[in-house]
Amino acid sequence: MGKIIKISGPLIVADGMQDVKMYDVVKVSEKGLIGEVIELRGDKASVQVYEETSMLGTGEPVVSTEQPLSVELGPGLIGSIYDGIQRPLEKLYALSGDRIDRGVSAPALDHEKKWKFTPVAKKGDTVTAGDVIGTVQENEVITHRIMVPYGVSGKIEKINSGDFTIDETVAVVSDGKQKHNVAMLQRWPVRKGRPYAEKLPPEEPLVTGQRVVDTLFPIARGGVAAVPGPFGSGKTVLQHALAKWSDADLIVYVGCGERGNEMTDVLNEFPELIDPKTNQPLMKRTVLIANTSDMPVAAREASIYTGITIAEYYRDMGYSVAIMADSTSRWAEALREMSGRLQEMPGEEGYPAYLSSRLAEFYERAGQVKLLGSTERAGSVTAIGAVSPPGGDMSEPVSQATLRIVKVYWGLSSALAYKRHFPAIDWLVSYSLYSDRLADWFGRNVDEQFGAYRLEISRLLQEEARLDEIVRLVGMDALSPADRLTMEAAKSVREDYLHQNSFHEVDTYTSPKKQFKMLKLIVDFYYAVFTTVFSARWKSFTRCPAIESTAA
Ligand code: ADP
Ligand code: MG
Repeated sequence: MGKIIKISGPLIVADGMQDVKMYDVVKVSEKGLIGEVIELRGDKASVQVYEETSMLGTGEPVVSTEQPLSVELGPGLIGSIYDGIQRPLEKLYALSGDRIDRGVSAPALDHEKKWKFTPVAKKGDTVTAGDVIGTVQENEVITHRIMVPYGVSGKIEKINSGDFTIDETVAVVSDGKQKHNVAMLQRWPVRKGRPYAEKLPPEEPLVTGQRVVDTLFPIARGGVAAVPGPFGSGKTVLQHALAKWSDADLIVYVGCGERGNEMTDVLNEFPELIDPKTNQPLMKRTVLIANTSDMPVAAREASIYTGITIAEYYRDMGYSVAIMADSTSRWAEALREMSGRLQEMPGEEGYPAYLSSRLAEFYERAGQVKLLGSTERAGSVTAIGAVSPPGGDMSEPVSQATLRIVKVYWGLSSALAYKRHFPAIDWLVSYSLYSDRLADWFGRNVDEQFGAYRLEISRLLQEEARLDEIVRLVGMDALSPADRLTMEAAKSVREDYLHQNSFHEVDTYTSPKKQFKMLKLIVDFYYAVFTTVFSARWKSFTRCPAIESTAA
């Protein structure tokens, strides 16, 4: 047991801590505030405390739990609302009301509730870590697959069927030397990625129903994307739209340091919205982690790890999971605050030098993977992080570090937001490195001409940007009639296609098939007008070469 010798905001230093390890969870003071060891020097440990530290004093005890910060994984996660260290907010509310008292804690999952376990493996089967031995119907939408925990393998000696709590043994696996009791509950340290057999290249898009995203800058299942944009440019609305409509099996939404009312919106909206795939409320496939701006800063740092660990757990069942973090900048600020208090050597703008490696560690846990276990199965985690650079200045360290990692960049522009062009994704700067890989999928599943029409609207938008310069210099009258028509077509692409109102019942979601029909309508109309008006004068004109070649 150690004693506090120094308190500096969310950081405390304790001596007499020679026995603790890095990242061990400790309980601070009689109140039992939860903290995590983030630096060790001799017998002194620096601890980031996940709760308010005012009123603590030197000399108060610090006790190690000898466990790293871990989450509970098992049936009951879906539909829960957690704080950054997986404390269930609803239960905390029941315990202490609107303002969470310090040191209150409650188990993340319900340990009394009985779940109906249906075995899918039988006595005598040989299993290894990751193999599914049974299922639990977690709700109408998600079948929770109970897996052999990491580190366990052997023959099933006994497997039960019936109603059990998450702590009760459902199977006994023997590896010859030792018998392992397997329960539905697993614990996993959040800072360590859950293992998998192999990373696979992304092949399928995560269809989001957002036209500008799916058509121009698609994201693959297992892909990584960033949504950078200044305040008010629509990051949160876009993240919400993706959480609502993307065709992932499961969503983990991490509200990380943004305003509390944004989380309230999610809480109010999701239970009412109906998932088009399952006809069930969206909350039945969602896990929420709320660490809003008025909650302790250190817990914000942990929240994205808690989120991605839960995402990985469902990935291991073979699901396609999407995790949204709003915003990674607030997370990085928490990192900066702790680093500053540890008096580490600051890097750019005061962020620690390890900022980019920490960010990379987070995004690297996304991916389409071949899972552990004896049967061939795959699952994916798609990660989408919002970045809010102060003043919209993309040269700041968090944006730059994120840019180096992600494969999809949806750059939000304040100019577009100001014009109320939403989603304000700037088509001239955004990109997706998956679009070539995914072109095949759109060709096969939507329409073989999808790629050609996609190219055509990109061309129209580029053309518009070029002509715009001329217009600004010498006015619209200087343009040829053909160029003016191009400008009109591009305007139609912008206003009829890229504009999408997230708050409109119908407009909020557009299926890929409908996207193609809309695209085709706009582009074909343009060419129809073009050929009718100009064919006499401009005999040599042919349709867009790309469309001509696929139509032939
Ligand atoms: P940020 O998170 O970047 O600060 P928000 O996501 O809160 O910005 O968006 C600010 C405002 O912009 C919203 O309240 C809404 O009025 C408007 N907005 C953003 N995206 C859309 C959209 N797709 N459709 C309609 N309005 C939008
Ligand atoms: Mg926001």
